[in-house]
Amino acid sequence: MSDDTNPKAVREIRINPVVPSESVLVATARSMRPKRREDLGVREHEDYVATCPFCRGNEHLTPPAIDVYPGPADWRIRIVENLYPVLGDDRQERNLSLGLQQTIDGYGRHEVIIDHNRHGIALYEMEASHIADLFSAYQKRMRELYQSNPRLRYVLVFKNSGAAAGASLSHTHSQIIGMPVVPYNVQAEVEHSLSYYRKHHHCIFCALIDEALTFEATIYDRTSGAVQRRIHVGQYVIERGTRFLAVKPFASRYEWEIQILPLAHQGDFLDASGDDLRDFARVLRRSMARLSAVLGEVQYNYFLHALPHAPETEESRPSYHWHLEICPRTTIPSGFELGSGLFVNTVSPEDAARQLREVVLTDPD
Ligand SMILES: [Zn+2]
Ligand SMILES: [Zn+2]
Ligand SMILES: [Zn+2]
Repeated sequence: MSDDTNPKAVREIRINPVVPSESVLVATARSMRPKRREDLGVREHEDYVATCPFCRGNEHLTPPAIDVYPGPADWRIRIVENLYPVLGDDRQERNLSLGLQQTIDGYGRHEVIIDHNRHGIALYEMEASHIADLFSAYQKRMRELYQSNPRLRYVLVFKNSGAAAGASLSHTHSQIIGMPVVPYNVQAEVEHSLSYYRKHHHCIFCALIDEALTFEATIYDRTSGAVQRRIHVGQYVIERGTRFLAVKPFASRYEWEIQILPLAHQGDFLDASGDDLRDFARVLRRSMARLSAVLGEVQYNYFLHALPHAPETEESRPSYHWHLEICPRTTIPSGFELGSGLFVNTVSPEDAARQLREVVLTDPD
């Protein structure tokens, strides 16, 4: 073992390799530490809450179901319309755009997926087969939405878990939003990875996976010859399945951010097979168990970044690589972050990855 298994203070701006304009200030010195969110909120552990509209038996409190798994009476996953959609399909008239004040249509679909019939269950407490069913339900609904309306250019799947992550209901749930535009950050990933592909004839995400799995280097100070940094094999790897890899991004915006990617190149999430989703579910479940072992009750967002279904992004199939981004919300962004657009990360990604990797999971799965 080399010297840098002991966390050293890091203070450097790391450039996101996929989207260079998204940079992160990694500053582990105590003085930089932002305020930790005090009211972390406690997860409700009950299986059933009489007043909860998402609990089994209270179906009359939600709009009618769009889909249920496995069946209406014994459902374990249920998809309904969002009562308070951010985008709706009732507005057909075009918005008036004036000069530089260009607006886009508020057209779209907003649906809620009740992830599990048990009210307070955490993701890592669900069976891997249930998580695979959940992601397969996302897939089916995304496919239906894309097919039902050519105006939808991106279907975003995301989950807010906990008040700090923006969840307004405590029953475990996620959301699907079909949008008439490709979100800016997805578009940026698609464009930057395409320009990398044009230069190198290789997917940048695949290159990052190769690096995460095999790269080993020692960086020396050019004048003194002293060792500046050693990069190990697997330094950023959190969890490895047969088909998926969970990694800590080198330029992580959030202290405990994790990304899960297919090991073999796959641009579109809709191309993931049943076997893919089974391995993905296992990697996700184990990653969430590691997060909760290190952080305790964790509030987080996750979101799927997949190839948009827009005509102009079709050529990005070989250069874009779908992934799930998991962003635990352990700190509140400060004025510096909001003002500069530079995320501040106070835990070095190497140290966070090591802590997560070292958790001994008692569950056999
Ligand atoms: Zn509930
Ligand atoms: Zn790839
Ligand atoms: Zn992404």
